[in-house]
Amino acid sequence: MTESSVSELAGVPRGPTEPGASGRPAADRREELVALYRYLKDCHECPLAKSRTKLVFGSGHADADLMFVGEAPGFHEDQQGVPFVGRAGKLLDDLLGEIGLSRAEVFVVNVLKCRPPGNRDPQPDEIDECTPHLMRQVELIEPRVICTLGNFSTKLLTGSQRGIMSVRGRPQERELSGRTVRLYPICHPAAALRSDNVRQQLREDFHRLPELLAEPRPEPAEAVPIQHSGGEGDAAVGATVGLGGDAPPPDPPQLGLFG
Ligand code: URA
Repeated sequence: MTESSVSELAGVPRGPTEPGASGRPAADRREELVALYRYLKDCHECPLAKSRTKLVFGSGHADADLMFVGEAPGFHEDQQGVPFVGRAGKLLDDLLGEIGLSRAEVFVVNVLKCRPPGNRDPQPDEIDECTPHLMRQVELIEPRVICTLGNFSTKLLTGSQRGIMSVRGRPQERELSGRTVRLYPICHPAAALRSDNVRQQLREDFHRLPELLAEPRPEPAEAVPIQHSGGEGDAAVGATVGLGGDAPPPDPPQLGLFG
């Protein structure tokens, strides 16, 4: 995972059916994603920045049609700076393989970019601080389908308190960061490791993904808008993006973008 792998991806075409929502060139959006990564590497907006080993920005294709949103980094993710590298990540990789996809073709992120100590649940204030960065990632990557993995990301992105088991496997059209998307809530792979039943449900839901990806992006009128308050994080990110030639020199091996 190096900055050289960023440039390798510049020419990779977007998925099968259509260009991104904004019509902005993928290379420009990718550059702003890299700027966001550089900004977050030095982020101290919440106490988790002090206890983390590495920022877990997200990894995958910067122009992916399909995005996965997990909960928060665990021990191994915190050590490596890459999301879903433990057993749950192995299951995610296996399920992706079953539908003919790989990590390099999707983008995987978490609600929180830093590990909560002892893998405790994300706290509301931490989610509030980190949400603008997730929204910015959605704005820049422009996925058509976002799979929310488990309760935290599902509740956050659907804007509803309904739990994962009552909404899983049913796509919802939403407007996020000015982009219409199909949210597709599914169980968290870690929950599937604990229960054969959940594992079977997750597999079934995964196997519907190719069908969802073949559908065009929903029209704005069909989508329910979700408002997420920006707070200071938005302003800070806004000030950082588009730095272009003024951007600081790349940080060597832990870019964390294209795992
Ligand atoms: N669980 C998550 O939600 N995210 C990770 O990155 C790893 C485990």
